[in-house]
Amino acid sequence: MRKKIVAGNWKMNKNLQEGIALATELNEALAADKPNCDVVICTPFIHLAKVSDVIDHSVIGLGAENCADKDKGAFTGEVSAEMVKSTGAEYVILGHSERREYYKETPEILKEKVLLALANGLKVIFCIGESLDEREANKQNEVVKAELEGSVFNLSAEDFGKIIIAYEPIWAIGTGKTASSEQAEEIHAYIRSVIADKYGKEVADNTSILYGGSCKASNAPELFAKPDIDGGLIGGASLKCADFKGIIDAWK
Ligand code: PEP
Repeated sequence: MRKKIVAGNWKMNKNLQEGIALATELNEALAADKPNCDVVICTPFIHLAKVSDVIDHSVIGLGAENCADKDKGAFTGEVSAEMVKSTGAEYVILGHSERREYYKETPEILKEKVLLALANGLKVIFCIGESLDEREANKQNEVVKAELEGSVFNLSAEDFGKIIIAYEPIWAIGTGKTASSEQAEEIHAYIRSVIADKYGKEVADNTSILYGGSCKASNAPELFAKPDIDGGLIGGASLKCADFKGIIDAWK
């Protein structure tokens, strides 16, 4: 059966000392009160190695927020999937709408990143989701389908099994506007049907599909109660231990 997951995306927040403090606090909170789901924190690159040392990896998975689309070599300032893996990280977020929009990451670039991440033993949290204009034009289904086809439907069924999908409507990210649980369930079910058409029902049933976009402790229980919502990718509310733990506890 597919995993229930709550993953944090710290984005470009927290200096190293603050990041270690937050990871340590979360580690202690979850040691005292075991979660009923997989928990992942995705941190800036510079935090990974130190955070890896302070968390119990059997309770908290560690991930990066990005990796390079090149293997190694003369790419000043880039961080490869192999480097991410060498810190102790097990996951990487790819395809976040902020990377697509501000850093012009195309489906082809993301396809390369996904392949390199998987080749280096990382699990990929692959983000998809429509803009407000696309939602208003009722194009959300075609947008998410094209994003899957453009970057992950080239994978074998075995490799696709290492992908976690995060549906994140761009209009709900950091805006305080959440998709209603009905809206989210409708498109999660659609995403699962598209995966089933490509890889078959078993693969689709085993794929975790997370919701992201202004998810917090107050709305998580309603979202997570839906049959096709397998957890959340959490931005702002992952930056405080109590807020993030409140979302994790939605699975209790
Ligand atoms: C995100 O950017 O992945 C996200 C879900 O952000 P927020 O929770 O702040 O909307």
